[in-house]
Amino acid sequence: MSSTVEYDNQVVTRGDLKYQGKAKQVYLTNNSEILWVHYMDQATALNGKVHEDIPEKGRLNSAISHILFQYLTRHGIENHYLTAISETDELDLALDIIPIEVVTRNYASGHFVSKFDATSMQKLNPIVQEFYYKSDALDDPFMNDSQILALGYATEIELEKLRNYAQKVNQLLKSLFDEIKINLIDFKLEFGKNALGELILADELSPDNMRLVDQKTGKSLDKDVFRQHSGDVTIGYRDVLSRLENLEK
Ligand code: 5GP
Repeated sequence: MSSTVEYDNQVVTRGDLKYQGKAKQVYLTNNSEILWVHYMDQATALNGKVHEDIPEKGRLNSAISHILFQYLTRHGIENHYLTAISETDELDLALDIIPIEVVTRNYASGHFVSKFDATSMQKLNPIVQEFYYKSDALDDPFMNDSQILALGYATEIELEKLRNYAQKVNQLLKSLFDEIKINLIDFKLEFGKNALGELILADELSPDNMRLVDQKTGKSLDKDVFRQHSGDVTIGYRDVLSRLENLEK
């Protein structure tokens, strides 16, 4: 695609690659407040140790993330998403990403089951919130509040903000997915700071970083299909996208 687009009455030009993620490429632009993000046709597991080319995955994740960020914006959740510029590319607000991953769990799955011997898909009441240190080299280790505070990755007030943010996003996403007969099992959020030092929701919102299960069949519609080598991961992603699109009509 062209490396120049128009956004908000200005010309935005894609510049140097700032960061190559596991499934996304992030480019600088001629505007220091805007990043150009490209969703790749790639999936990784075990923090990048396993990866595979998956045609169409970039388009599907980009489209799902677009719908979910717009939905959160309509419901007053501030986030980095600016606009889609193609089927696989978007513009985002440039933020200083903090090295904390915020995981919310409504039902037991994944590491929660393997770490605590919980029953898979057991409803969690109250919901569980966890922080992880964002580091591929260290396999994103769990961090408690005092570890985060001692290392200066966030203040008490910021931790409270992260919890509130995640709780609101959970309520909104849970009710949206409920409307399309999908259970939101768990998800991971990332945040960054803007020029004023305010925390803002960042990253992507897609089945790459949330577990989604069909309410009727119990089938997994997310990246677990890839993690567990249990079939074509894009079937579930396509299903999620078409249900979200039908809801929007
Ligand atoms: P778990 O801790 O059970 O592996 O993951 C909990 C939830 O957070 C899942 O929905 C999973 O997709 C998401 N998650 C946790 N860590 C990561 C990560 O490093 N990358 C991505 N894409 N998702 C993550």
